[in-house]
Amino acid sequence: ATPTALLAATGRGAELGVLVRGPEVLESLRRIDTVVLDKTGTLTSGHMELTETVTAPGESADEVLLLAGAVEHHSEHPIGRAVAAAARRRCGPELPRTTGFAATPGDGVHGTVCGRSVRIRRPGDPTALPPALRDALNRAESDGRTAVVVELDGRAAAVLLVGDRLRPGSYRAVHRLRGLGLETVLLTGDRPGAARAVAGQLGITEVHADASPERKAEVVAGLRAAGRVVAVVGDGVNDAVALASADLGIALDSGTDAAIGAAGLTLMRGDIEAVVDAVRLARRTLATIR
Ligand code: ADP
Ligand code: MG
Repeated sequence: ATPTALLAATGRGAELGVLVRGPEVLESLRRIDTVVLDKTGTLTSGHMELTETVTAPGESADEVLLLAGAVEHHSEHPIGRAVAAAARRRCGPELPRTTGFAATPGDGVHGTVCGRSVRIRRPGDPTALPPALRDALNRAESDGRTAVVVELDGRAAAVLLVGDRLRPGSYRAVHRLRGLGLETVLLTGDRPGAARAVAGQLGITEVHADASPERKAEVVAGLRAAGRVVAVVGDGVNDAVALASADLGIALDSGTDAAIGAAGLTLMRGDIEAVVDAVRLARRTLATIR
């Protein structure tokens, strides 16, 4: 009866919007006691909006946005999509051509546009920035927005502030996971302010911010070393290492191929509440087998 029950459960999973890679995934699902959740694009919608462009003295907001948008046009990150969309709205549909585009997961992007070297990335040391940009970073930190720095030819030219919303199912998902006795942890490459804003709305108390993709994997390894059985839910290239190092990796099907490839479970329909249904299904199925 075992293989039949597992097969039936896999089919039931598909009906619930959960694609299970193999029968062993159900066993992992039954055993997990901790769910680590990525922030951007997982707990939040990933449909970010550029809400403010703050320039350094002598820089033109139009020019900065045009150059940044041209580079971000090649990025699949939610921040990149927001910046490119804002640039098109402001400057017209045709963005200038970018050469030498490169993305560093969890850090940012760069390329050459109109002969200028353009980099958009996570903020480093704020004290190195002009006061106007430093103020913008501080504001983002206190109101929970995400801030990135635009560098033109190696000089900080602007700070872009972007906002996001929670996914509709995030609140219920977190609370139902806790109802099943699972610990929830928020893990993000974003700054502590943006991380705290999301964690606060969801009642998540364990928060790891400023985490590079490698650091994300280290956090997961640390939890496992402490005896926890860990699932990681993520959507991005920056989550692939953490997904692969978890007891169970769970990817959103709206995410990147790297994340989906590293996962045992894929959530169809972008509904993270389906994780809860999958855990319940695994517990029910395997309880009847043994
Ligand atoms: P999360 O862990 O919340 O999903 P990421 O690891 O994807 O966040 O990104 C971490 C940080 O790296 C972002 O907050 C941003 O500062 C920077 N970053 C990543 N991709 C980009 C991009 N395309 N443009 C600008 N900044 C980026
Ligand atoms: Mg993400």
